[in-house]
Parts: sequence; structure tokens; C-alpha cells
Amino acid sequence: MQHDDTIAAIATPLGQGGIGIIRISGPASLEVLRALFRPSSSRFGGFRPWTLHHGTITDGCDPLDDVLAVHMPGPRTFTGEDVSEIHCHGGSGVLAAVLEACVRHGARYAERGEFTRRAFLNGRMDLTQAEAVAEMIAAPSREGMRLAQAKLDGLLGQRVGALRARLDALRMQLCVAVDFPEEEVECLAPEAFLAEIEAVRQGVVELSAGYARTRCWHDGALVVLAGQVNAGKSSLMNALLGRRRAIVTDLPGTTRDFIEEPLNLSGLAIRLADTAGLRETGDIVEQEGVRMSRDLVAQADLVLLVTDATQGLQGPELELLRHAGPERVLVVFNKTDLLEGRILPSTPEGCRSVHVAAASGDGVESLVTAIRAAVLAAMGAGEPEAGELAPNMRQAAALDKAATILDELAGDIRAHVPYDLCGVRLDGACAALMDVTGQSTPEAILDAIFASFCIGK
Ligand code: GDP
Repeated sequence: MQHDDTIAAIATPLGQGGIGIIRISGPASLEVLRALFRPSSSRFGGFRPWTLHHGTITDGCDPLDDVLAVHMPGPRTFTGEDVSEIHCHGGSGVLAAVLEACVRHGARYAERGEFTRRAFLNGRMDLTQAEAVAEMIAAPSREGMRLAQAKLDGLLGQRVGALRARLDALRMQLCVAVDFPEEEVECLAPEAFLAEIEAVRQGVVELSAGYARTRCWHDGALVVLAGQVNAGKSSLMNALLGRRRAIVTDLPGTTRDFIEEPLNLSGLAIRLADTAGLRETGDIVEQEGVRMSRDLVAQADLVLLVTDATQGLQGPELELLRHAGPERVLVVFNKTDLLEGRILPSTPEGCRSVHVAAASGDGVESLVTAIRAAVLAAMGAGEPEAGELAPNMRQAAALDKAATILDELAGDIRAHVPYDLCGVRLDGACAALMDVTGQSTPEAILDAIFASFCIGK
């Protein structure tokens, strides 16, 4: 992919809207704009930087749309290059025609994430900020958005950079100690070296732990309804969604595959899946459904084990509970309206439970609160705190790699391994930290990261 030509793309979502924006970035962006734009004012004296001008976009003699256009000279732009924007009417036909005209006049269609990639390559942002752009767009909730914002502001990159600077300082001291061994104790005593490595490692581990703590806020969580047939899973799905989505009947085996719906629990985005019930069956389609339920239970962040309160937990449910692990299960005793004064069945040890009557909606509100708390507990998460840093999976893996190398380095220092060999490990830890911010990330990985962006970003 070339990075010094001029690219163009539709920057707003496809579909119909009041305004749709075409963004052009690269050395020829002003030229492209000039070739297409006819000002409406006779006093127009050329594009004044950062100023919106009214006019018409024409392709040859053909007027395409009435627009506002702006030119922003680099380097203080999103990509760091000259950028022009054409604010058209927001219809896909209009936008496609204007984009095609841009391409006919010297731009090329941008690849996915190419604007952000250019911003990264031109030093306008580090890789954590570039990834935060995509995370911001994909954030399923306000909490996810706030976490992405902290990264967009560059806080994660700064914290990683500060840890790396401490390792760089050690590297310099190590070089001096190797070059002037007789002054070793003065240059870098092993105790001080070890203490600093352990302190940096601790900082790296704390940053990495932010991934597990915040994963549910940016990725959401998968909550799966499981249990015996006729326990009331589909009724509960409908009660939680507040609408009739799943078919409810007395006939066992009505839900043959599974249905999945998004649900927002006070800012926590979950995907709620209703599965076929656990039962032995000769029906091939239902057998496949039961197999799918098992797979979903295995992937679930939380399993809602729905049980008929008049029956209590039976063999297959206890088996599922053992399999999934009690910390990942919330037992839901349903049909409490049929108990008629009988006491509720007991909950197995280490397991949370709630009781509801899905058919009437009794207890569903407390169930929602319990699901939210159980998801957070099962995922080791808490309510996001102000300024909390949330590395993504790739960033956490690079941080973990740095922590492992620092751990090995601490072992080497304790074992009095020569300092020149320690230097090799120190370089490895620095490289892993630089990978977080993209300073040493190979091209192929950058390709994969930016390919997950949308076009126009
Ligand atoms: P699933 O097979 O687990 O999905 O169960 P369904 O949601 O299809 O419900 C099976 C039957 O139980 C239906 O006849 C429902 O009307 C009934 N049912 C579900 N929840 C309740 C409840 O809270 N109380 C009573 N009395 N019946 C319920």
C-alpha cells in the first residue's frame, strides 16, 4: 500500500441522513477539491484554511450536489496531511457520485482504516490511540466510550512510555557497567537493578490487569439461558427483553437452535442467548440444538441456569453446574407462582440464585440487577473508574510478554548472570513495550489491525 498518494472515502455511515461527508487526504487533496468545486459566492477568493465554503460539486458540466467544503492544510490535521472535506447531502447515491468524481480527479479509494493508519505513520498518534479510534466507534455503551476516550487521549501510551523510559535508563547504566566493570558497583548495583526491574514489572502487570477488569465494558458479555426443557427459558428471555421474541409453548423442544439478542443492563452490553433445553432426544434437529447449547454454555461469560422451582435442581442441571463452575452460573428458580407456600429448593454451595415468575414478570427486576452483578463478578470486573486504563487483548498480550521477560531478567540478576547478557533481556522487554504503542510492530500486524477498521476511518 502506498502512503504518499491522495486517498478519498465516505466518512459517514452509509444510508440516508441529513449530511454525508467525503474526506480526502494527501498532497493532492486541495487540487481534487478545486477541480470539483464551483463557489456560490462571486467573492470567493480561494479556499481559506479551516473555513467552510458554500458551492456546488460538479463533474465536468454535470452539477452533482450543493455542498459545504473545507480545506485543512497539514500537519495539524487528523492524518497529518493536507485534508479536504466535502459535506454533501447524506444519500448513498450522492456520496457515491461525489466520491467517484474525486477519484476521477486524482484521488484513489481509501482502504479500511487508511486515514487512521496515516495518522499513526505520520506520528499524529501512537498505536494505542489509533486502536482507540476503532474502539470508540464500536463502544457498545457510555462506559466503553469513556474507556476508549482515555486511550484516545494517549494515557495508555504515556504510561507505557514512562515504564519504557525507566528501562532505557537502566539500559544506559548497564552499558556503562559493562564498559567499565571496575566501577560496576557504583554504576549499577545488582540490588538496585533488581529493585527497579521489579518495580517496572509491577507497573506493567498492573496495566495489563486492566484488560480483564474492563473487558466486559468494551466487548460486552455473553449470557446464556440454559436448563431443562419447559423450565421457562424462552419465557424468561421474553421477560428480560420486554417483548415476545422467543416462542413459548407447553411442548418440549420448541427452541431447536438458539436465538441471540442484545440487551443493555445499565450500561453493560450483553448478548442474551436462549438455547434448546438439556434433554436426551431422538430428533436429529433437536440433537444438533442441544449440541449448540453445550457449545454456547462453554463460551458463556455467565450461564443463567433456569429451573422449575417446584422441581429443584435435577441431575442434568447439577451436571451443567459442575461443568460450568458455580462462579459462572446464576441459578434462576422460575415458576415461583406454583410453589403455593412450599419452600424454595436449596441452592448448591458457592452458587448464587434468584427466584422469579417469568410468566407474570414477578422478580424480573431483581433478576436484572443480579445478572449484572454476576456478570461483573464472573468476569472479574468492577464499575469502571474515572481514568481507568483499558488495554485491549493485543496490548495486554504485549504487556504480558514484557512482564514475563522482566521476570526472567529478575531471575538472571539474582543468579548473577553477566550484565551483557542481562542487556539482551532488557532489550526484549523494551521491544515488547514498544509493541504496545506500535513503535516496533511489524507491518503485517499493522495490516491486520487497520483491516478491522471501517472504510473512511
Ligand atoms: P423453555 O422450554 O424452557 O423455553 O420454557 P417455555 O418458556 O417455553 O415455558 C414452558 C411452559 O412453562 C409454558 O407453558 C410457559 O407458559 C410456562 N411458564 C413459563 N414461566 C412460567 C412461570 O413463571 N409460571 C408458570 N406458572 N408457568 C410458566
